[in-house]
Amino acid sequence: MPDTTPRSAGRGADLEALRERTRALCAGFPDAYWRETDRDRRYPQEFVDTLTAAGLLSVLVPPEYGGAGLGVTEASVVMEEINRSGGHSAACHAQMYTMAALLRHGSRALKDAYLPLIARGELRLQAFSVTEAAAGSDTTAIATTATRDGDDYVLTGHKNWTSRIAESDLALVLARTGERAADRTRGLTLFLLDLRRVRAQQPETLEVVPVRTMFNYATNQVHYRGVRVPADHVVGEVDAGFRYVIDGWNAERILLAAEAIGDGYWFVERAVAYATERQVFGRPIGANQGIQFPLADAYMKVRAADLARWEAARLFDAGQPCGAEANMAKHLASEASWAAANVALDTHGGNGFVDEYDVERKFRETRLYQVAPVSNNMIKAFVATKVLGLPRSY
Ligand SMILES: Cc1cc2nc3c(=O)[nH]c(=O)nc-3n(C[C@H](O)[C@H](O)[C@H](O)COP(=O)(O)OP(=O)(O)OC[C@H]3O[C@@H](n4cnc5c(N)ncnc54)[C@H](O)[C@@H]3O)c2cc1C
Repeated sequence: MPDTTPRSAGRGADLEALRERTRALCAGFPDAYWRETDRDRRYPQEFVDTLTAAGLLSVLVPPEYGGAGLGVTEASVVMEEINRSGGHSAACHAQMYTMAALLRHGSRALKDAYLPLIARGELRLQAFSVTEAAAGSDTTAIATTATRDGDDYVLTGHKNWTSRIAESDLALVLARTGERAADRTRGLTLFLLDLRRVRAQQPETLEVVPVRTMFNYATNQVHYRGVRVPADHVVGEVDAGFRYVIDGWNAERILLAAEAIGDGYWFVERAVAYATERQVFGRPIGANQGIQFPLADAYMKVRAADLARWEAARLFDAGQPCGAEANMAKHLASEASWAAANVALDTHGGNGFVDEYDVERKFRETRLYQVAPVSNNMIKAFVATKVLGLPRSY
Protein backbone atom coordinates (compact mmCIF):
# COMPACT_ATOMS: atom_id res chain seq x y z
CA MET A 1 0.00 0.00 0.00
CA PRO A 2 1.42 3.47 -0.80
CA ASP A 3 2.30 5.63 2.19
CA THR A 4 0.71 8.99 1.43
CA THR A 5 1.12 10.53 4.88
CA PRO A 6 3.25 13.64 4.49
CA ARG A 7 6.20 13.54 6.81
CA SER A 8 6.41 16.19 9.50
CA ALA A 9 8.74 18.05 7.13
CA GLY A 10 10.36 21.09 8.68
CA ARG A 11 8.88 20.23 12.06
CA GLY A 12 11.85 18.36 13.38
CA ALA A 13 13.45 14.95 13.54
CA ASP A 14 12.06 14.36 17.04
CA LEU A 15 8.52 14.62 15.76
CA GLU A 16 9.32 12.17 13.01
CA ALA A 17 10.88 9.75 15.51
CA LEU A 18 7.75 9.98 17.65
CA ARG A 19 5.63 9.23 14.59
CA GLU A 20 7.73 6.17 13.77
CA ARG A 21 7.66 4.93 17.38
CA THR A 22 3.86 5.25 17.55
CA ARG A 23 3.54 3.58 14.17
CA ALA A 24 5.70 0.66 15.29
CA LEU A 25 3.61 0.10 18.42
CA CYS A 26 0.35 0.34 16.48
CA ALA A 27 1.63 -2.27 14.04
CA GLY A 28 1.26 -4.78 16.88
CA PHE A 29 -2.51 -4.23 16.75
CA PRO A 30 -3.63 -5.22 13.27
CA ASP A 31 -7.04 -4.80 11.65
CA ALA A 32 -8.25 -8.09 13.11
CA TYR A 33 -7.74 -6.75 16.65
CA TRP A 34 -9.85 -3.64 16.00
CA ARG A 35 -12.46 -5.68 14.13
CA GLU A 36 -12.83 -8.05 17.05
CA THR A 37 -13.03 -5.31 19.71
CA ASP A 38 -15.58 -3.50 17.54
CA ARG A 39 -17.67 -6.65 17.06
CA ASP A 40 -17.70 -7.37 20.81
CA ARG A 41 -17.88 -3.71 21.85
CA ARG A 42 -14.86 -4.46 24.01
CA TYR A 43 -12.54 -1.79 25.39
CA PRO A 44 -9.12 -2.23 23.70
CA GLN A 45 -7.34 -2.58 27.03
CA GLU A 46 -4.22 -4.31 25.64
CA PHE A 47 -3.69 -1.50 23.16
CA VAL A 48 -4.13 1.23 25.79
CA ASP A 49 -1.80 -0.62 28.19
CA THR A 50 0.87 -0.86 25.49
CA LEU A 51 0.73 2.85 24.72
CA THR A 52 0.65 3.73 28.41
CA ALA A 53 3.71 1.56 29.15
CA ALA A 54 5.56 3.27 26.29
CA GLY A 55 4.75 6.69 27.82
CA LEU A 56 2.85 7.81 24.74
CA LEU A 57 -0.30 8.82 26.62
CA SER A 58 1.55 11.08 29.05
CA VAL A 59 3.70 12.99 26.58
CA LEU A 60 2.15 16.27 27.77
CA VAL A 61 3.18 15.81 31.42
CA PRO A 62 6.12 18.15 32.15
CA PRO A 63 9.56 16.64 32.88
CA GLU A 64 9.53 17.81 36.54
CA TYR A 65 6.64 15.38 37.04
CA GLY A 66 8.32 12.59 35.12
CA GLY A 67 6.69 13.14 31.72
CA ALA A 68 8.14 14.00 28.33
CA GLY A 69 7.00 17.64 28.47
CA LEU A 70 5.95 17.70 24.83
CA GLY A 71 3.22 19.81 23.24
CA VAL A 72 -0.15 19.29 21.64
CA THR A 73 1.70 19.17 18.30
CA GLU A 74 3.44 15.96 19.36
CA ALA A 75 0.35 14.56 21.08
CA SER A 76 -1.57 15.12 17.85
CA VAL A 77 0.95 12.99 15.94
CA VAL A 78 0.33 10.11 18.37
CA MET A 79 -3.43 10.38 17.84
CA GLU A 80 -3.07 10.68 14.07
CA GLU A 81 -0.91 7.58 13.85
CA ILE A 82 -3.32 5.49 15.92
CA ASN A 83 -6.16 6.25 13.51
CA ARG A 84 -3.94 6.02 10.47
CA SER A 85 -2.91 2.51 11.52
CA GLY A 86 -6.57 1.42 11.34
CA GLY A 87 -7.18 1.81 15.09
CA HIS A 88 -9.37 4.22 17.00
CA SER A 89 -8.01 6.83 19.43
CA ALA A 90 -11.31 7.11 21.27
CA ALA A 91 -10.03 4.54 23.74
CA CYS A 92 -7.36 6.83 25.07
CA HIS A 93 -7.40 10.41 23.81
CA ALA A 94 -8.89 12.08 26.86
CA GLN A 95 -5.72 12.02 28.93
CA MET A 96 -4.21 14.30 26.30
CA TYR A 97 -6.96 16.89 26.17
CA THR A 98 -7.81 17.00 29.87
CA MET A 99 -4.17 17.78 30.54
CA ALA A 100 -4.37 21.37 29.28
CA ALA A 101 -6.87 22.39 31.98
CA LEU A 102 -4.94 20.61 34.72
CA LEU A 103 -1.48 21.86 33.70
CA ARG A 104 -2.52 25.44 33.13
CA HIS A 105 -4.93 25.89 36.02
CA GLY A 106 -4.49 23.07 38.56
CA SER A 107 -2.91 23.90 41.94
CA ARG A 108 0.66 22.86 42.69
CA ALA A 109 -0.68 20.36 45.24
CA LEU A 110 -2.99 18.70 42.69
CA LYS A 111 -0.21 18.47 40.14
CA ASP A 112 2.25 17.09 42.71
CA ALA A 113 -0.28 14.51 43.83
CA TYR A 114 -1.39 13.20 40.46
CA LEU A 115 0.94 14.05 37.58
CA PRO A 116 3.87 11.77 38.59
CA LEU A 117 1.44 8.84 38.82
CA ILE A 118 -0.05 9.69 35.43
CA ALA A 119 3.46 9.98 33.96
CA ARG A 120 4.36 6.53 35.33
CA GLY A 121 1.21 5.07 33.83
CA GLU A 122 -0.19 4.21 37.26
CA LEU A 123 -3.21 6.53 37.03
CA ARG A 124 -5.55 7.14 34.13
CA LEU A 125 -7.26 10.50 33.58
CA GLN A 126 -9.51 9.43 30.73
CA ALA A 127 -12.90 10.97 31.53
CA PHE A 128 -14.24 14.48 30.92
CA SER A 129 -17.77 14.80 32.29
CA VAL A 130 -19.49 17.87 30.86
CA THR A 131 -22.45 17.25 28.50
CA GLU A 132 -25.99 16.99 29.89
CA ALA A 133 -29.24 16.06 28.20
CA ALA A 134 -30.95 19.39 28.79
CA ALA A 135 -27.84 21.46 28.00
CA GLY A 136 -26.25 19.74 24.98
CA SER A 137 -24.25 22.17 22.88
CA ASP A 138 -25.23 24.94 25.31
CA THR A 139 -22.70 23.91 27.96
CA THR A 140 -23.32 26.94 30.15
CA ALA A 141 -26.86 25.64 30.78
CA ILE A 142 -25.64 22.56 32.70
CA ALA A 143 -27.57 21.81 35.89
CA THR A 144 -25.35 19.34 37.79
CA THR A 145 -24.62 21.12 41.07
CA ALA A 146 -21.65 21.18 43.41
CA THR A 147 -22.63 22.37 46.89
CA ARG A 148 -20.10 23.23 49.59
CA ASP A 149 -20.34 21.08 52.71
CA GLY A 150 -17.46 21.54 55.16
CA ASP A 151 -14.20 20.67 53.44
CA ASP A 152 -15.98 19.01 50.53
CA TYR A 153 -18.22 19.81 47.60
CA VAL A 154 -21.13 17.48 46.96
CA LEU A 155 -21.89 16.66 43.31
CA THR A 156 -25.48 15.96 42.31
CA GLY A 157 -26.80 15.59 38.78
CA HIS A 158 -26.84 13.61 35.59
CA LYS A 159 -24.45 13.62 32.64
CA ASN A 160 -25.78 11.90 29.53
CA TRP A 161 -22.35 11.36 27.97
CA THR A 162 -19.18 10.55 29.90
CA SER A 163 -16.83 8.29 28.02
CA ARG A 164 -14.30 5.89 29.59
CA ILE A 165 -15.29 6.66 33.20
CA ALA A 166 -15.25 2.94 34.01
CA GLU A 167 -11.72 2.69 32.53
CA SER A 168 -10.45 5.74 34.39
CA ASP A 169 -9.07 6.52 37.86
CA LEU A 170 -9.69 10.25 37.59
CA ALA A 171 -12.29 12.42 35.89
CA LEU A 172 -12.64 16.11 35.23
CA VAL A 173 -16.21 17.11 36.07
CA LEU A 174 -17.87 20.44 35.32
CA ALA A 175 -20.61 21.44 37.78
CA ARG A 176 -22.64 24.47 38.76
CA THR A 177 -21.57 26.37 41.87
CA GLY A 178 -23.37 29.62 41.11
CA GLU A 179 -26.51 30.88 39.39
CA ARG A 180 -26.59 31.31 35.61
CA ALA A 181 -26.24 35.10 35.38
CA ALA A 182 -25.66 37.70 32.67
CA ASP A 183 -22.15 36.34 32.15
CA ARG A 184 -23.20 32.79 31.33
CA THR A 185 -19.64 31.51 31.57
CA ARG A 186 -19.46 32.23 35.33
CA GLY A 187 -20.87 30.00 38.07
CA LEU A 188 -19.33 26.78 36.73
CA THR A 189 -16.52 24.98 38.52
CA LEU A 190 -14.15 22.28 37.31
CA PHE A 191 -13.33 19.40 39.69
CA LEU A 192 -10.70 16.70 39.55
CA LEU A 193 -12.64 13.72 40.82
CA ASP A 194 -10.61 10.82 42.23
CA LEU A 195 -12.78 7.90 41.18
CA ARG A 196 -10.71 5.44 43.23
CA ARG A 197 -11.80 7.21 46.39
CA VAL A 198 -15.45 7.26 45.30
CA ARG A 199 -15.39 3.55 44.40
CA ALA A 200 -13.75 2.66 47.74
CA GLN A 201 -15.65 4.95 50.10
CA GLN A 202 -19.05 5.81 48.62
CA PRO A 203 -19.78 3.63 45.59
CA GLU A 204 -23.54 4.12 46.00
CA THR A 205 -23.19 7.80 45.03
CA LEU A 206 -21.95 7.11 41.49
CA GLU A 207 -24.03 5.22 38.96
CA VAL A 208 -22.54 4.50 35.53
CA VAL A 209 -24.90 3.27 32.80
CA PRO A 210 -23.16 2.10 29.60
CA VAL A 211 -24.56 3.50 26.34
CA ARG A 212 -24.27 1.33 23.22
CA THR A 213 -23.41 3.40 20.17
CA MET A 214 -23.00 2.64 16.45
CA PHE A 215 -19.32 1.90 16.98
CA ASN A 216 -17.06 0.68 19.77
CA TYR A 217 -17.02 3.63 22.16
CA ALA A 218 -16.86 3.16 25.91
CA THR A 219 -19.38 5.84 26.73
CA ASN A 220 -21.93 6.16 29.53
CA GLN A 221 -24.62 8.06 31.27
CA VAL A 222 -23.51 9.02 34.77
CA HIS A 223 -25.62 9.84 37.81
CA TYR A 224 -23.87 11.80 40.55
CA ARG A 225 -25.88 11.20 43.71
CA GLY A 226 -24.08 13.15 46.40
CA VAL A 227 -20.50 12.36 45.33
CA ARG A 228 -18.10 14.08 47.75
CA VAL A 229 -15.06 15.77 46.28
CA PRO A 230 -12.57 17.62 48.51
CA ALA A 231 -12.60 21.40 48.04
CA ASP A 232 -8.87 21.30 47.29
CA HIS A 233 -9.71 19.26 44.17
CA VAL A 234 -11.20 22.30 42.49
CA VAL A 235 -9.15 23.07 39.36
CA GLY A 236 -8.32 26.79 39.38
CA GLU A 237 -10.88 29.17 40.86
CA VAL A 238 -14.43 28.38 41.90
CA ASP A 239 -17.02 29.66 39.37
CA ALA A 240 -14.36 30.11 36.64
CA GLY A 241 -14.28 26.51 35.37
CA PHE A 242 -15.81 27.21 31.99
CA ARG A 243 -12.70 29.17 31.02
CA TYR A 244 -10.48 26.19 31.86
CA VAL A 245 -12.74 23.82 29.97
CA ILE A 246 -12.22 25.97 26.90
CA ASP A 247 -8.44 25.40 27.16
CA GLY A 248 -9.18 21.69 27.24
CA TRP A 249 -11.58 22.05 24.34
CA ASN A 250 -9.01 23.73 22.12
CA ALA A 251 -6.58 20.88 22.76
CA GLU A 252 -9.39 18.40 22.20
CA ARG A 253 -10.35 19.96 18.86
CA ILE A 254 -6.76 19.89 17.61
CA LEU A 255 -6.25 16.29 18.74
CA LEU A 256 -9.50 15.10 17.22
CA ALA A 257 -8.66 16.96 14.01
CA ALA A 258 -5.45 14.91 13.90
CA GLU A 259 -7.46 11.71 14.47
CA ALA A 260 -9.77 12.58 11.59
CA ILE A 261 -6.73 13.32 9.43
CA GLY A 262 -5.28 9.92 10.35
CA ASP A 263 -8.59 8.38 9.26
CA GLY A 264 -8.52 10.41 6.04
CA TYR A 265 -5.07 9.10 5.07
CA TRP A 266 -6.15 5.57 5.99
CA PHE A 267 -9.22 5.77 3.73
CA VAL A 268 -7.25 7.18 0.81
CA GLU A 269 -4.45 4.63 1.11
CA ARG A 270 -6.80 1.68 1.44
CA ALA A 271 -8.84 2.86 -1.51
CA VAL A 272 -5.77 3.52 -3.67
CA ALA A 273 -4.44 0.03 -2.91
CA TYR A 274 -7.80 -1.53 -3.73
CA ALA A 275 -8.22 0.54 -6.90
CA THR A 276 -4.78 -0.60 -8.05
CA GLU A 277 -5.46 -4.30 -7.48
CA ARG A 278 -9.10 -4.70 -8.38
CA GLN A 279 -9.59 -5.56 -12.08
CA VAL A 280 -12.92 -4.95 -13.79
CA PHE A 281 -13.37 -4.85 -17.58
CA GLY A 282 -9.82 -6.20 -17.83
CA ARG A 283 -8.05 -3.28 -16.14
CA PRO A 284 -7.58 -1.83 -12.65
CA ILE A 285 -10.59 0.21 -11.58
CA GLY A 286 -8.10 2.94 -10.58
CA ALA A 287 -7.47 3.55 -14.30
CA ASN A 288 -10.96 5.08 -14.53
CA GLN A 289 -11.17 8.77 -13.84
CA GLY A 290 -14.48 8.14 -12.10
CA ILE A 291 -12.42 6.36 -9.43
CA GLN A 292 -9.20 8.42 -9.66
CA PHE A 293 -10.61 11.90 -9.42
CA PRO A 294 -12.64 11.42 -6.23
CA LEU A 295 -9.52 9.89 -4.65
CA ALA A 296 -7.33 12.79 -5.71
CA ASP A 297 -9.99 15.18 -4.45
CA ALA A 298 -10.27 13.42 -1.08
CA TYR A 299 -6.49 13.38 -0.68
CA MET A 300 -6.24 17.12 -1.34
CA LYS A 301 -8.96 17.82 1.24
CA VAL A 302 -7.13 15.77 3.86
CA ARG A 303 -3.81 17.49 3.09
CA ALA A 304 -5.41 20.94 3.35
CA ALA A 305 -7.06 20.10 6.68
CA ASP A 306 -3.70 18.77 7.88
CA LEU A 307 -2.14 22.21 7.34
CA ALA A 308 -4.91 23.80 9.43
CA ARG A 309 -4.16 21.29 12.20
CA TRP A 310 -0.42 22.13 12.27
CA GLU A 311 -1.21 25.83 12.50
CA ALA A 312 -3.71 25.38 15.35
CA ALA A 313 -1.28 23.13 17.25
CA ARG A 314 1.56 25.62 16.79
CA LEU A 315 -0.52 28.46 18.24
CA PHE A 316 -1.73 26.30 21.13
CA ASP A 317 1.80 25.27 22.08
CA ALA A 318 2.97 28.88 21.85
CA GLY A 319 0.28 29.82 24.39
CA GLN A 320 -1.43 32.07 21.87
CA PRO A 321 -5.19 32.38 21.31
CA CYS A 322 -6.22 29.55 19.00
CA GLY A 323 -9.98 29.11 19.44
CA ALA A 324 -10.75 29.91 15.82
CA GLU A 325 -7.88 27.83 14.44
CA ALA A 326 -8.62 24.81 16.67
CA ASN A 327 -12.30 24.87 15.72
CA MET A 328 -11.61 25.35 12.02
CA ALA A 329 -9.07 22.52 12.02
CA LYS A 330 -11.60 20.16 13.62
CA HIS A 331 -14.29 21.21 11.14
CA LEU A 332 -12.10 20.87 8.06
CA ALA A 333 -10.57 17.58 9.21
CA SER A 334 -13.92 15.97 10.04
CA GLU A 335 -15.37 17.00 6.67
CA ALA A 336 -12.24 15.77 4.87
CA SER A 337 -12.24 12.38 6.62
CA TRP A 338 -15.95 11.95 5.92
CA ALA A 339 -15.41 12.77 2.24
CA ALA A 340 -12.53 10.27 2.13
CA ALA A 341 -14.69 7.66 3.90
CA ASN A 342 -17.37 7.93 1.24
CA VAL A 343 -14.84 7.74 -1.57
CA ALA A 344 -13.25 4.66 0.02
CA LEU A 345 -16.66 3.02 0.32
CA ASP A 346 -17.50 3.74 -3.32
CA THR A 347 -14.09 2.51 -4.46
CA HIS A 348 -14.56 -0.79 -2.65
CA GLY A 349 -17.97 -1.37 -4.23
CA GLY A 350 -19.82 -4.12 -2.38
CA ASN A 351 -16.72 -5.00 -0.41
CA GLY A 352 -16.94 -1.63 1.29
CA PHE A 353 -19.84 -3.06 3.26
CA VAL A 354 -18.02 -6.24 4.31
CA ASP A 355 -16.43 -6.15 7.76
CA GLU A 356 -13.19 -7.90 6.75
CA TYR A 357 -12.24 -4.87 4.62
CA ASP A 358 -12.56 -2.58 7.67
CA VAL A 359 -13.91 0.32 5.58
CA GLU A 360 -17.41 0.00 7.05
CA ARG A 361 -15.96 0.07 10.59
CA LYS A 362 -13.81 3.13 9.97
CA PHE A 363 -16.75 4.72 8.13
CA ARG A 364 -18.86 4.42 11.29
CA GLU A 365 -16.00 5.62 13.49
CA THR A 366 -15.03 8.70 11.52
CA ARG A 367 -18.62 9.99 11.31
CA LEU A 368 -18.40 11.00 14.97
CA TYR A 369 -15.96 13.82 14.32
CA GLN A 370 -18.62 15.94 12.65
CA VAL A 371 -20.79 15.78 15.77
CA ALA A 372 -18.53 15.47 18.80
CA PRO A 373 -16.87 16.91 20.77
CA VAL A 374 -18.61 19.86 19.15
CA SER A 375 -20.91 19.76 16.17
CA ASN A 376 -19.79 21.43 12.98
CA ASN A 377 -22.84 23.70 13.09
CA MET A 378 -21.58 25.19 16.34
CA ILE A 379 -18.17 25.74 14.73
CA LYS A 380 -19.77 27.58 11.82
CA ALA A 381 -21.66 29.72 14.36
CA PHE A 382 -18.38 30.40 16.20
CA VAL A 383 -16.56 31.46 13.03
CA ALA A 384 -19.51 33.56 11.86
CA THR A 385 -19.83 35.46 15.12
CA LYS A 386 -16.34 35.50 16.66
CA VAL A 387 -14.25 35.74 13.51
CA LEU A 388 -16.55 37.48 11.03
CA GLY A 389 -18.35 39.63 13.61
CA LEU A 390 -21.88 38.65 12.56
CA PRO A 391 -24.73 38.86 15.11
CA ARG A 392 -25.27 35.88 17.43
CA SER A 393 -28.18 33.63 16.48
CA TYR A 394 -28.63 32.07 19.93
C1 LIG B 1 -19.82 8.76 21.22
C2 LIG B 1 -19.92 10.03 21.99
C3 LIG B 1 -19.10 10.22 23.10
C4 LIG B 1 -19.21 11.38 23.85
N1 LIG B 1 -18.40 11.54 24.96
C5 LIG B 1 -18.54 12.63 25.74
C6 LIG B 1 -17.77 12.77 26.94
O1 LIG B 1 -16.91 11.95 27.28
N2 LIG B 1 -17.97 13.86 27.72
C7 LIG B 1 -18.89 14.81 27.40
O2 LIG B 1 -19.03 15.77 28.15
N3 LIG B 1 -19.64 14.72 26.25
C8 LIG B 1 -19.48 13.65 25.42
N4 LIG B 1 -20.23 13.53 24.28
C9 LIG B 1 -21.24 14.54 23.97
C10 LIG B 1 -20.90 15.46 22.80
O3 LIG B 1 -19.94 16.39 23.20
C11 LIG B 1 -22.22 16.09 22.34
O4 LIG B 1 -22.98 15.05 21.72
C12 LIG B 1 -22.03 17.24 21.40
O5 LIG B 1 -21.44 18.31 22.07
C13 LIG B 1 -23.38 17.71 20.81
O6 LIG B 1 -24.30 17.92 21.84
P1 LIG B 1 -25.74 17.21 21.78
O7 LIG B 1 -25.54 15.77 21.45
O8 LIG B 1 -26.48 17.49 23.04
O9 LIG B 1 -26.48 17.87 20.56
P2 LIG B 1 -27.49 19.12 20.57
O10 LIG B 1 -26.87 20.26 21.32
O11 LIG B 1 -28.81 18.64 21.02
O12 LIG B 1 -27.54 19.48 19.03
C14 LIG B 1 -28.24 18.67 18.09
C15 LIG B 1 -28.08 19.29 16.70
O13 LIG B 1 -28.62 20.61 16.71
C16 LIG B 1 -27.64 21.54 16.25
N5 LIG B 1 -27.78 22.81 16.92
C17 LIG B 1 -28.03 23.06 18.23
N6 LIG B 1 -28.07 24.38 18.47
C18 LIG B 1 -27.83 25.00 17.28
C19 LIG B 1 -27.72 26.36 16.85
N7 LIG B 1 -27.86 27.38 17.70
N8 LIG B 1 -27.45 26.61 15.55
C20 LIG B 1 -27.31 25.59 14.64
N9 LIG B 1 -27.40 24.29 15.00
C21 LIG B 1 -27.65 24.00 16.30
C22 LIG B 1 -26.29 20.89 16.57
O14 LIG B 1 -25.29 21.38 15.73
C23 LIG B 1 -26.61 19.42 16.31
O15 LIG B 1 -26.47 19.17 14.92
C24 LIG B 1 -20.13 12.38 23.49
C25 LIG B 1 -20.94 12.20 22.36
C26 LIG B 1 -20.85 11.04 21.62
C27 LIG B 1 -21.74 10.85 20.42
